[in-house]
Amino acid sequence: MTITRSVPLPQGLLHIGGKLLPAADGRTAPILDPATGVELTQVAVAGPEDVDRAVGAAREAFDNGPWSRMTPRERGRVLWRVADLLRARATEFARLESLDVGKPLMFTTTVDIPTVIDTFEYYAGLVAGLEGATRATAAPSFAYTRREPIGVVAAITPFNFPAILSATKLAPALAAGNTVVHKPAPETPLSALLFAELLAEAGVPEGGYNLITGDGPTGAALVAHPGVDKIAFTGSSAVGAQVAAQASASLKQVTVELGGKGANIIFADADLGAAIETAVGAFVFNTGQFCMSGSRVLVERPVYQAVVDALGGAATHVPVGDPFSEGVVVGPMAGPNHLAKVVSYLDQAASSDAQLVGGQRPDGPGFFIGPAVLSHVAQDSPLIQEEVFGPVVTVQPFDTEDEAIRMANGTRYGLSAGLQTKDVTRAHRVAGALNAGIVWVNGWALLDPAMPFGGVGASGYGRENGPEGLDGYLRTKSVVINLA
Ligand code: NAD
Repeated sequence: MTITRSVPLPQGLLHIGGKLLPAADGRTAPILDPATGVELTQVAVAGPEDVDRAVGAAREAFDNGPWSRMTPRERGRVLWRVADLLRARATEFARLESLDVGKPLMFTTTVDIPTVIDTFEYYAGLVAGLEGATRATAAPSFAYTRREPIGVVAAITPFNFPAILSATKLAPALAAGNTVVHKPAPETPLSALLFAELLAEAGVPEGGYNLITGDGPTGAALVAHPGVDKIAFTGSSAVGAQVAAQASASLKQVTVELGGKGANIIFADADLGAAIETAVGAFVFNTGQFCMSGSRVLVERPVYQAVVDALGGAATHVPVGDPFSEGVVVGPMAGPNHLAKVVSYLDQAASSDAQLVGGQRPDGPGFFIGPAVLSHVAQDSPLIQEEVFGPVVTVQPFDTEDEAIRMANGTRYGLSAGLQTKDVTRAHRVAGALNAGIVWVNGWALLDPAMPFGGVGASGYGRENGPEGLDGYLRTKSVVINLA
C-alpha cells in the first residue's frame, strides 16, 4: 500500500530577523524528490549579503534581545512548546522529511521525528538545572562560576538526517541562550523551513533563530563572517577540515562532527541470529547514508561464512522502493551525486578480487540502489578505508580479539563501533579499546539525546547530545568577590 505523498511544502524563503525574504540576488535552486527525480519546489540560495543580514539579526538579538537574558527556565518553557508543536504536526513533519530525503516513512515516523521531539524535551528539562559552582579560594573571597551563552552560533548541517541534526544543534544552542544562524544542506532543507515556522510560533523571538538556505559558498561565507562566535558543523571530513582551519584562524569556537567507518565486531559466542539482524540494520538504515553506519563487519572465523551468507541473503531480500510504500526498508539515495559515488565504489569492487552480492539498480526513475555485501576485501582497500555512504557493507574474518581491535581501529575515522558477544568481561575490555566516540554492545545505533556522541581522528571533535552537548554552547565566567 502506498500512503499519500501529498504534504504542504513550506515556502522556500530565508528566515531572517523574523521576516521571510527571498535571496538578495533572487537566486533559487531546485529541490528534487529522490524517489522520482522530479522537482518538488525551488528554495532561496543565500549569498554573502543575506549571510551578513542573518548574522546581523542574530547579533542584534543576542546583544539586545530578550533571548540571551531570559532565565534558563523561561527558555526551557519555549523549548517545551516547540516539542508540543512538533508532536501536533508530527505526521506532516515525517512526510516532509520522507519526501525531501527519500527516507522510508516507517523510519521518519518512528525514529526521526520522535527523536527531534525527544531532543527538544531533553534540553528543555536539562537547562532548567543549569548551574555554576562556588569555589573555596586561598584568599578570603566569595568565588563562583557563571555558565553563559557564547553568542551567535552558526549551525551547519548535512543532508542525511536534516531534522534530527537540526534539533541536535538548535535545542542545546537555544537552551543555552545563544542566537542561531542555521544553514541546512542544499539537497534537503525542507524540514528546516518548517522548523523556522514552529520556533517562531513557540516563542523564539525575532532574530533568535535565522535560517539561510543555500550551498557550500553560503556555508563558507557564514563560517568567515566576523559576527559569528561559534561554529557547530556536521558534514564530511573534507569540508570539516576546511571549516575547522578557517574557524581557528579567526579564533572562533568550533565543533566538527564528521564522517565515519563504523566497525561492527561479531564474536563467535554472540547470539548469531540477533547479531546478523543487527548487522543488516546497521548497514541498510537510512540507505547507508549514516555517519554511524555499521559499514564494516568483522567476524570471528568460526562463524564468518555463516554471517557472509546471511548478509548476502538479506541484501537481496530487504525491500527497496518508494519511501511512501508500506514495508519498504531501503529508499533512494538522497540525490544523483550520492548515488554516483556509491556506484563508483561498487565499480571499483567489481574490478578487484572482492566478491559482491546485491547492489542492484532497479529500473525506473529515482536514485535507487539495493544493499550490497562485499567479502574478500583487503584492509588497505578504499572500500574499507573510505566512507562509501550508501547501503554497502564489507565483511572480514578475524582470529583473535587483538586482531579484531587492530582491524576495527585501522582506519583514520573513529565515530562509532560495536561488538556482539555474550562475554561481559570481553564487552567492557573491547569497548575500552575501540577508537570511537560511541560504542554499542549487542546492538547498533542505540542513540539517545542523553548519550553524547562525537568523533576521534578524522571523525572530528566536540560532543553532541547529553550534558556535554549543552556544554558546547556555554562558556564559564568566574566571579571573585574580595572579602579581605
Ligand atoms: P558536506 O560536508 O558536503 O556538507 C555539509 C554541510 O556543509 C552542508 O550544509 C554544505 O552545504 C555545507 N558546506 C559545504 N561546503 C562548505 C564550506 N566550504 N564551508 C561551510 N559549509 C560548507 O556533507 P554532506 O554530504 O551534506 O553530509 C554527509 C557527510 O556528513 C558524511 O561524511 C557523514 O558521515 C557526515 N555526517 C556526520 C555526522 C556526525 O554526527 N558525525 C552526522 C551526519 C552526517
